[in-house]
Amino acid sequence: MADYYETLGVERTATEEEIKRAYRRMSRKYHPDIAGPEYEDKFKEVNSAYEVLSDPDKRRMYDAGVDPNDPGSGAYGASGPFGMGDIFSQFFTGAFGGGEGPVPRTQPGRNTIESLAITLKTAVFGGTQKLEYHTMGVCEHCEGTGSEDRQPPVTCPQCHGTGHVQKVVRTLLGQMMTSAPCDRCEGHGTIIERPCTVCHGHGRVPTRRTLDVPVPAGVADGTRVRMDGQGEVGECGGPAGDLYIDFRVRRDRQYTRDGDDLHCWVSVPMTWAVLGHETSLDTFDGEQTLEIPAGCQPDQQIELKGLGVTHLGGDGERGDLIAHIEVQIPTKLNDRERRLIDEFGQLRKDGERSVDAQGSKPVAAQKKGFFSKIKDAFS
Ligand SMILES: [Zn+2]
Ligand SMILES: [Zn+2]
Repeated sequence: MADYYETLGVERTATEEEIKRAYRRMSRKYHPDIAGPEYEDKFKEVNSAYEVLSDPDKRRMYDAGVDPNDPGSGAYGASGPFGMGDIFSQFFTGAFGGGEGPVPRTQPGRNTIESLAITLKTAVFGGTQKLEYHTMGVCEHCEGTGSEDRQPPVTCPQCHGTGHVQKVVRTLLGQMMTSAPCDRCEGHGTIIERPCTVCHGHGRVPTRRTLDVPVPAGVADGTRVRMDGQGEVGECGGPAGDLYIDFRVRRDRQYTRDGDDLHCWVSVPMTWAVLGHETSLDTFDGEQTLEIPAGCQPDQQIELKGLGVTHLGGDGERGDLIAHIEVQIPTKLNDRERRLIDEFGQLRKDGERSVDAQGSKPVAAQKKGFFSKIKDAFS
């Protein structure tokens, strides 16, 4: 039975939230689009582990020793964790999933995923942003060969280059022959006579790398780009993986983004709204004139065409900048101001107006009381 807790890298006591977090991390790490097609099986494992551990009923069943994804294989099935199945499968596939022949010493590097925070302004126009990240780089001491004196590997004297050795295993059914990876060469079939003292024969070491990442104009929060060959360097000179960058667009103090449009809120004095006024607005394109029209209403929108976010895709088109107008109603008036407003109100005959029904819902649509509902039910 597969150890689902181990697959997700969580304790057996993990909470639902911890399991969810672990799943998100692992599924991202092993997604075949990111990690490469060779991780497809691992990705499937992660998914079936989550399917079981995220469901309280299935998890209880699993904890009791039955795999809900494969009920026959549980502790009570034909082949539990210590049943015959596992021993048999070892013989038929070799003890360690036994491949045929040696495992190449040169291995491709894995992909790396990093997230990179940028300002909204950088998202609007594009640009470059520095990224510092940890990855595996070529060991400079041995130039990636893994050998202290930079000599090529030689054939392993223990397995003669096959990468495997035959072993006799004692089982319930008697002695059987099985094949296991050679421990002298770790299955590579070759050994490095004097391993590099810095990388211990791997040809690569943990590295901190700084990169100027080109930011395409118009990237959104969560946009992912790939940089070829900037991931982990492979073992012993193997090709490097790719670097995937998830852009995170920081919140801007003034502007929020909706698609390719930028929105902001501009608070203006009541008199500007009534009489109209020309003011200036600080935008990513510098200071712009904002024309408040006479009779401007609260929440009215003023569009500045083409001052929004550049459309992602390189056609150079840009969205709009939309200013939402808030009208400041004065709260503290001195005597003279009060008199003037009052006089204004009298001129406008504001006292004779009625305010009912202006935009309010018709009475019939209002919530009915408990008793009238009962009445409806009987009529
Ligand atoms: Zn060997
Ligand atoms: Zn080295």
